Amino acid sequence: MTLRIPTKRIVIVGAGVAGSIMARALAMQAGLEVTCLEQVAPDDHASAGLVIGPNAIKALHMRDPLLASAIGEAGLPWDHWRVSLCSGEVLLDLPLTRVADHGGVRILRSTLYRVLRQAAGDTVRYRCKLLECGASLQDPARSYVVWEQDGRQCRLDDIDLLIAADGRGSPTRSAFAGQPATHQVGALLFRLMVPDAGAGQIDDYEQWCNGPNRLLAFRLPDGQINIAGSLPTPGEYPLHAGMDMEALRVAYTPAHARPGPQAAWLIDTLCANADAICWYRMRAPGIRFAEPHAQVMYLGDSAHAMAPPLGQGVAQAIEDACSAAELIATSLAGGETSPRAWLSTFEAARLERLRFVMSVAPHAAGLMLGDATEQDRASALGALRQLYCQVALPRHGAGPAAGTALSA
Ligand SMILES: Cc1cc2nc3c(=O)[nH]c(=O)nc-3n(C[C@H](O)[C@H](O)[C@H](O)COP(=O)(O)OP(=O)(O)OC[C@H]3O[C@@H](n4cnc5c(N)ncnc54)[C@H](O)[C@@H]3O)c2cc1C
Repeated sequence: MTLRIPTKRIVIVGAGVAGSIMARALAMQAGLEVTCLEQVAPDDHASAGLVIGPNAIKALHMRDPLLASAIGEAGLPWDHWRVSLCSGEVLLDLPLTRVADHGGVRILRSTLYRVLRQAAGDTVRYRCKLLECGASLQDPARSYVVWEQDGRQCRLDDIDLLIAADGRGSPTRSAFAGQPATHQVGALLFRLMVPDAGAGQIDDYEQWCNGPNRLLAFRLPDGQINIAGSLPTPGEYPLHAGMDMEALRVAYTPAHARPGPQAAWLIDTLCANADAICWYRMRAPGIRFAEPHAQVMYLGDSAHAMAPPLGQGVAQAIEDACSAAELIATSLAGGETSPRAWLSTFEAARLERLRFVMSVAPHAAGLMLGDATEQDRASALGALRQLYCQVALPRHGAGPAAGTALSA
């Protein structure tokens, strides 16, 4: 006799990083009717460079090895992390295998979206912009969505689980939880992508510091160089496209030495491309993985925001999606079909992990101080090892915050 599982209706809003992974995973699952709504066309995404942390690659290998391999093949390996002073003095030269089971990936943002969306197949409906969503009147645990498609309004009711993967400023989260209070993360940030005209100055992921002012750069598969930086005292540096490049030059020029060759190239390149630099400040909402009453789950940037220096924005979106997919798959296999039960286990497991991930940034800052003690460095390396290696995916029946982890 075959056991019939009643079909659960699931809607995912957003086919970015987390949404595409979720759409692919849930579409393979019997007993689910899955729709993913994405507002843009499949190949519509601004280019920028990304690094994906080793922890995300590990989570993806545990959940979906084919997808992990496809991402690895589309990018370049992130194997090494070097931190220097702008004068050129090296503070840290770290093969990632010292703190991770394997490396991460350097990839163009547009390439990552292409790989993930292709893998999600026709579960994703493109050019479908969510206009409205909320709890059903008949059953407040369930929800409805209204979206625009080809100039028409469409509506879906009786959704058993609504998954918000609609990124920063999530319209789904605003509809259910109101505009979240935000706080400013870090400092004044900027980024720039340029063709590699630096005669091979930049390759794998590197950072340079001049006091609290940070630069980072890495090479991408198509020969572009991704440059980013932060200036922690925004008052001193006006935020606008035509910002005084002399102020930027001063910020990264050591007081008592000339910049080393790499820092000098980065400073000159930034000054020569002043109009193309993208300046921004990051505001983060509080963490929210689930609604308490409505059956709504938040993944990626809709659930939390990550300070940029650790490259954990994409990584945590991937960990969220892999965790939710593993939990739903093992729950269905074990006969647990209640979305409320899935949400409780998911929230408990992810909250614990997220709080740890957010605590790593102050430790990692210890790697970038010229006067860091051996103890500061040991503590930073220990925190990174835990961040990159201790990845666990929550499973049905394994306890609220327990899961499967690959051994190191
Ligand atoms: C330029 C740039 C550089 C970055 N560099 C890094 C880096 O080096 N490392 C790193 O880890 N992180 C980086 N980040 C952050 C990282 O991109 C995000 O943390 C990550 O993409 C979050 O994934 P997500 O799935 O939550 O959201 P996203 O990937 O942003 O996806 C959200 C999706 O929802 C869709 N959507 C939104 N509203 C609607 C709607 N109303 N209807 C339908 N669909 C909707 C969007 O179109 C989008 O496709 C960078 C971000 C930017 C912008």
